Amino acid sequence: MKTQILTLLKEADTYISGQDICTHFGVSRTAVWKAINQLKKEGYVIEAVPNKGYYLKTSPDIISYSEMKSVLNTKWIGEELYFYEEIDSTNTKAKQLAETGATSGTLVVSNMQTAGKGRRGRQWESPSETGIFMTLILKLDMNPSKASMLTLVMALAVVKACNEVTKSTCYIKWPNDIVLNKKKICGILTEMSAEMDYINHIVIGIGINANVDSFPEELKDKATSLKIENGKEVKRAMLINRIMVHFEHEYEIFMHNESMKAQIDEYNEFLINKDKEVTIIEPSNQYQGIALGIDEIGKLLVKKEDGKIEAVYAGEVSVRGIYGYI
Ligand code: ATP
Repeated sequence: MKTQILTLLKEADTYISGQDICTHFGVSRTAVWKAINQLKKEGYVIEAVPNKGYYLKTSPDIISYSEMKSVLNTKWIGEELYFYEEIDSTNTKAKQLAETGATSGTLVVSNMQTAGKGRRGRQWESPSETGIFMTLILKLDMNPSKASMLTLVMALAVVKACNEVTKSTCYIKWPNDIVLNKKKICGILTEMSAEMDYINHIVIGIGINANVDSFPEELKDKATSLKIENGKEVKRAMLINRIMVHFEHEYEIFMHNESMKAQIDEYNEFLINKDKEVTIIEPSNQYQGIALGIDEIGKLLVKKEDGKIEAVYAGEVSVRGIYGYI
C-alpha cells in the first residue's frame, strides 16, 4: 500500500484527498493514514490539509523498495526488484537470484555493502546511505565471448545519466570506471556464468560514489563523489532510474548489432584517455602508447611507440595515465 500511495502522491504533484486515495485503492481511511505516517517516518515531507488532502512536498534522498518502485519508469528493468538495507555484495546476491529463476532485468539494490567487490577480488568501498550499490541481471542469447562489451554498454549509460542528472562532465576510463575531475566516481563489475557457447546469466554490478562525503586515506587521491565535486546532493533513486532508462536504450542498440559498432563514436567522446599517452598494465607485461579509442568489439586501440596498433582486451588489464591514475 505504501508503495502505491507514494507513487500516486508523486504523480499527482498536488493535493489528493484521503477519500480519493481510499476509493482509488479500495482501502480504509485508517490504512491510508498508516501508510502516510510510515512515509513521514522515512523522511518524506507530506502536508495534510483539512478539506484538501495530502500533498508530497519533498522527498529525501533515500533508497527503499517503495522509493525505487515509485521512481522507476523503465520498460523492463526493475520490474523484478530486490532491495536490501545491507548486504554483503549485490553481485553475489544477484548471482544467487539468477541461479534460482530471477528473470532478465531483475535489479538488486542496496543501501550498503559489507563486502563490495572490484575486479580481480579487490574491494569496493561501500559506505552506507550515501552510495549506490546495485546489480542488474541479464539473461540473453549471445556468444559468451561478446559479454565483456556489456561493461562498456553500462559505462555509456552511467556516464550519460550522471552528466544529465548532475550537469557535470564525467568521462569513461576504459573499461569499467567513470571518472569526474580525474578521480573515480563509479566502478562497474560484470560477471558471467556460461558454458562454452551459451550464457546462463550475466550480472552487471555498479557502485557509484553519489553522496559520499569522504574516503579512507588510501583512496583519497583516486576516488571522489558526485556530491564532493558538484557541491550538491544527488537523489540516488532518480539517478538509478536514469541509468537504467539509458541502459535499456543502449542495450537495444548493442543487442541489435551484437557489437559496439553503432556506439563507437559516442563512447570515444566520453573516453578520458582518448589521444593521450597511457600505460597498459598487463599481469606480466607493461607498455606505453597513445589510446586511440575503442573498436567494434570493445577493445582499446593503443598506438605503441614503434607505431604498431595494439587492440587491448579488457580482461586482466589496467590503464593508467602517464603521470598517475588518469
Ligand atoms: P584500476 O583503477 O586499476 O583500473 P579497476 O578499475 O580494475 O582498477 P576495480 O577493480 O573496478 O578497479 O575497483 C577496485 C579498486 O578501486 C580498488 O582496488 C580501489 O583502489 C578502488 N576503490 C575501491 N572502492 C572505491 C570507491 N568507493 N571509489 C573509488 N575507487 C574505489
